[in-house]
Amino acid sequence: MVKITKSFYIKHTRFEQQYRNFLGLPYVNSRGTFYPARVQNIADCSCNCRKIFQRDEIRAVFENFNRLANHTAQNVYLQGCVENAGAENLSNGATRRVFRYKISLSRASIYVCQKFFCGLHGVTRSRLRKKGTTYCD
Ligand SMILES: [Zn+2]
Repeated sequence: MVKITKSFYIKHTRFEQQYRNFLGLPYVNSRGTFYPARVQNIADCSCNCRKIFQRDEIRAVFENFNRLANHTAQNVYLQGCVENAGAENLSNGATRRVFRYKISLSRASIYVCQKFFCGLHGVTRSRLRKKGTTYCD
């Protein structure tokens, strides 16, 4: 794989910036700030979610997500993966809503932890909890 450096890129127009951002491609904004490509950042979680998946499945989920070339479509997709699994009672008497994160593959739908889910799509937790969605805390 070719290593992409900042100097390789000319500045992109605003439209190009947005488009490249959706696609997870690297871009340079009008101030010359370099935004690296979206990358999968799969941490080894204690539940070993990674071991459920084949290597090419992990790549395919990421590529399909990046192919949803606008923010709305990506958010709709992310929301569709999150299921409300009720609430759990914490020891301090408070309740916390519990969510499940589903990855749909052709062979099955697989539930993974949030950490793995975010890493798999290269998004942060905050992306799952955008204002206006139904699963905010
Ligand atoms: Zn996990």
